[in-house]
Amino acid sequence: MRKREEIIIEDLEILDAGAEGKAIARHNEVVVFIPHAVPGDIVDVRIVKKKRRFMEGSVIRLKQPSPLRTEPVCKHFGVCGGCKWQCMDYTAQLEFKRKQIVDNFIRIGKLNVSEIPPVVGADPIYFYRNKLEYAFADRRWLLPSELADESIQQSEGLGFHVPNVFDKVIDISECHLQAEPSNTIRNVIREYCMDRGLTFYNARQWTGLMRNIVIRTTPDGQVMLIVVFGYQDEAIIPMLEFLAERFPEITSLNYVINEKKNDTISDLPVNLFKGVPYLEERMEDLTFRIGPISFYQTNSKQAYKLYSIARDFAGLTGNETVYDLYTGTGTIANFVAHQAKKVVGVEYVEPAIEDAKLNSNLNQIDNTVFYAGDMAKVLNANFVEENGQPDVIITDPPRAGMHPDVIQQMLDIEARRIVYVSCNPASQARDLALLEEKYIITRIQPVDMFPHTHHIENVVCLELKPAIQL
Ligand code: SAH
Repeated sequence: MRKREEIIIEDLEILDAGAEGKAIARHNEVVVFIPHAVPGDIVDVRIVKKKRRFMEGSVIRLKQPSPLRTEPVCKHFGVCGGCKWQCMDYTAQLEFKRKQIVDNFIRIGKLNVSEIPPVVGADPIYFYRNKLEYAFADRRWLLPSELADESIQQSEGLGFHVPNVFDKVIDISECHLQAEPSNTIRNVIREYCMDRGLTFYNARQWTGLMRNIVIRTTPDGQVMLIVVFGYQDEAIIPMLEFLAERFPEITSLNYVINEKKNDTISDLPVNLFKGVPYLEERMEDLTFRIGPISFYQTNSKQAYKLYSIARDFAGLTGNETVYDLYTGTGTIANFVAHQAKKVVGVEYVEPAIEDAKLNSNLNQIDNTVFYAGDMAKVLNANFVEENGQPDVIITDPPRAGMHPDVIQQMLDIEARRIVYVSCNPASQARDLALLEEKYIITRIQPVDMFPHTHHIENVVCLELKPAIQL
């Protein structure tokens, strides 16, 4: 086969930091996406993908570093797909996140918003996640430099999947996403398994005892560990006994036997080995109980800021009926319940709704009701008749945004105010454009939940247009 001609572009100036965390440059009017480059860099790139409308390149020489560059703290940076923006100054990251919202609001939503305020930043910007999942693989990902070195043996790994490679992991020895004892637990488990010759999972043949570990932590030091095994084995109990003794700080030690071909454990029984079967997150005077497979926002500290902004935008006085759409485990619903007359939460994952009810009970909140069902089917005129006309609708949909039927229902319901929490400015812009038929945007506040990634959360407050209110 004839080798394709190599394309090198020299002295390319990086112009922007775009979606999916890749930097953007232009060459002869064609967009070039480049990972691990920073706006302001001058680079030479090798083109790795060439399409008619865009190219993808990889940096082969950094000719002139951007003033926005910082030294990445993590030794896995560049290989691990996790923290793509670690090479960029945090203030600049926040500004590029804000710009993403501006661009989407103008381009997709054609929205007429005069100003989007600075993003509420995170502090700390490392060790901010309360949940990480690691995968075992019988073959770890080798770096290009290692491939060339014949003395390096192929071996097992415990870490993160390489982007787009399902059967290999990057063997992670340090991660700056979750506070201790997270790193120590992962490294000790790896060493334990290797010392005893326990087999690591092979995702092509579905073999191997060790599949995954999930580590969840709380800001006040509770630790949950879930070890996922590929099958029942006599090595399991001794290993859990070892972990219980080695890590007395683990407050909830669990294991799962997953004999299925996929990694999902939400449909499997979780066995408690030691401690309690939950974590407890605290927020103001509330306690949220989180089971091994329950959802909770992964950055606890920023979640509190996000919810506080949403509650502030909702402007509650105690007399309102509030709908909390896409309520998940009911965290926002319970968080605003003290300031409302009644809160109605809707979500389609039934166990999440059970958690939501449990958390209301646990906190002696008696003015919430929760329904499980698909939003497009549940939210209709009957539902409003049964639960009362909402004064405020809080909505926090998944990345895809809201179904057009849901938006139509919201337009028909005519709540006085809508607070729209979104993790995707593109779908939010699209939905806001539809809501503009009856609403005006009055306040906007982006919040950063995930430093060193391109992800951004945005809260928008909409008021029913005065003419419609009459
Ligand atoms: N507000 C929650 C979680 C929001 S995440 C919190 O802050 O914790 C979005 C939620 O929407 C998820 O829980 C997901 O299960 C739910 N969801 C997604 N599509 C849905 C649909 N069509 N109908 C109802 N709920 C849906």
